[in-house]
Order: sequence, then C-alpha cells, then structure tokens
Amino acid sequence: MRKIVVLSGKGGTGKTSITSSLAVILSRSNKLVVVDCDVDTPNLGLVLGVKKDDFNWKKVYESEKVVLDHDKCTGCKKCLSICNFDVISWGDGVPVFNKFLCEGCGACSIVCPEGAVSLERIQNGFIGSADTSYGFKIVSGRLLMGASGSGKIVDLIRERASGYKADLVLLDAPAGIGCPVIASVRGADYALLVTEPTPSAFSDLKRAVKLLKQFNIPAGLIINKSDINKGFNEKIKAFAKEKGVRLLSEVPYDYAFVDSLVNLKPVVVYDNSFEKYFKDIMNNNS
Ligand code: SF4
Ligand code: SF4
Repeated sequence: MRKIVVLSGKGGTGKTSITSSLAVILSRSNKLVVVDCDVDTPNLGLVLGVKKDDFNWKKVYESEKVVLDHDKCTGCKKCLSICNFDVISWGDGVPVFNKFLCEGCGACSIVCPEGAVSLERIQNGFIGSADTSYGFKIVSGRLLMGASGSGKIVDLIRERASGYKADLVLLDAPAGIGCPVIASVRGADYALLVTEPTPSAFSDLKRAVKLLKQFNIPAGLIINKSDINKGFNEKIKAFAKEKGVRLLSEVPYDYAFVDSLVNLKPVVVYDNSFEKYFKDIMNNNS
C-alpha cells in the first residue's frame, strides 16, 4: 500500500482544494483511500461532499489527565513545582490541578510519595469513515475542544485506513510541523508540498522541507496561486531546485477554486479544465 502525504507548513495555501482534486484523479487509476489528518479542523470531507453526519463516528480515549485522591494527599507539596505545563497551583492545603492544561505526562504521579496522584484515560475525540460519491472512502478524526493527543488520533485514523483494501493512501496533513503533522508524514513513501508565492508560505515551506529531510521522504512541489507574486515564485523554484525537491505543477490563481469550495466540490469536478494542472503533477511525479 503506497502512502502519499500532502502538506504545506502554512495554512491557507489551498492544500485542501489540491488534495480533493488529486484524490478524484488518482481514484480513476488506483484503489484509493483518503485520510484527513487535520483532526483539529477536519474539512476535507466537506470539500468531497461528505457531511459530518455521514461518518460512522466512534469515540476514542487517547488522552490521560491527572486525578487527585484527596484521602491520600498529605499536603507535602512535592508535586507543586514539578509540572512543566503550569497545571498545579496550591489550594486549601492540597494541590489544585487545571485539567484543561494537563498533558498527562505523569511527572506529578512519580514524585508523589503517597500515591495520591494517578492518571485516568479520557475521551479526546472521535474517528470515523465514510464513502464519498467519487468511489473512494475518506477516514477522518475529530479532536474534542481543549483536548490533547491529536497525534494519537492521527495514528488511529491511519490504522483504520490501512484496514481498507486499497493500493494507495492519500494523507492530508494539517498545517504546521507539530505532533499531528509528524504523525501524518511518518512512514510516507512520498510527500507533495503545496505552497504559494508569499513570504510566510515560503518560510513555512522551508520548515516542512527540513522536516521531510529528517524523515528521509522524497518530495515534489506544487505552487498554488503561482502568478500572484512572480518574484517570489522564482525564489521558491530556486529553493526547491537547491533542495532536490522536484517542481510538479504551477497552478495559477483562479476564482473557480473559491467557487468550487462554496459548492463543496473538488475544483476538477466543478470545472474539468483544471485537470491539466493535476495531470502535470502525475506526469512529473512518475
Ligand atoms: S500529569 Fe504532567 S502535565 Fe499533568 S499535572 Fe501532572 S505533571 Fe502536569
Ligand atoms: S506530592 Fe502527593 S501528597 Fe504531596 S501534595 Fe502532591 S499530591 Fe499531595
């Protein structure tokens, strides 16, 4: 099962539009499953015409939070300064834990001599899958508000995707280079970087390229809205060449991308004249 991850570093580059159209085109010649790894703000399903209620959501318990046993606590204060996340303050003779901030690292339970602190598993989200009207499945996850453990939810949705009979998995990574992005790119065979010619996107692209180098994942580049800043477009191409990242396609800015999002359709379905840009990606990637 080949795994291709799409990432951008920066949000707002049009990655979801690109991924949804790529999925439609790739599904014509591959048995495909698509994974929306953006568990904080999942919206790839929407662009593919799948609504939230169409998913078979299942609760997941991939986070741990601290619990204090008041009967055991002697008020020794040994736990008070151990937390790196400023979770613990001092109350009426006992520590007070702000559970919203707790990362479940367990350090306070280790230093407590009375065994008064433990960790309990709590629900931190949902995972689910659904059929798209384009003949392939989408697997997605949702992190609960204020919950931690987004990377673990990404691991779970990838595991679910691997259970489907597919020869290609297309992973849509979230923005940034944090834990859920690492969970999305790990083990991928190839990465598609989507950027736009702006200073902030270029800066985030450099970080994404560095991340992929650490994982030794070969990558190709798609420059979206390539005509909005010709000077920066050239800079990005020069950077890609220097880093051994192959330029796969340059997609000019077109309002049809916005219209297609409004109509909840991949742009190649909304207007098939855009297929040429996606065929460039496949031809240059082969
Ligand atoms: S489990 Fe870790 S993050 Fe949570 S309160 Fe204890 S030390 Fe802080
Ligand atoms: S280390 Fe344990 S016993 Fe001491 S204050 Fe903290 S919870 Fe209570």
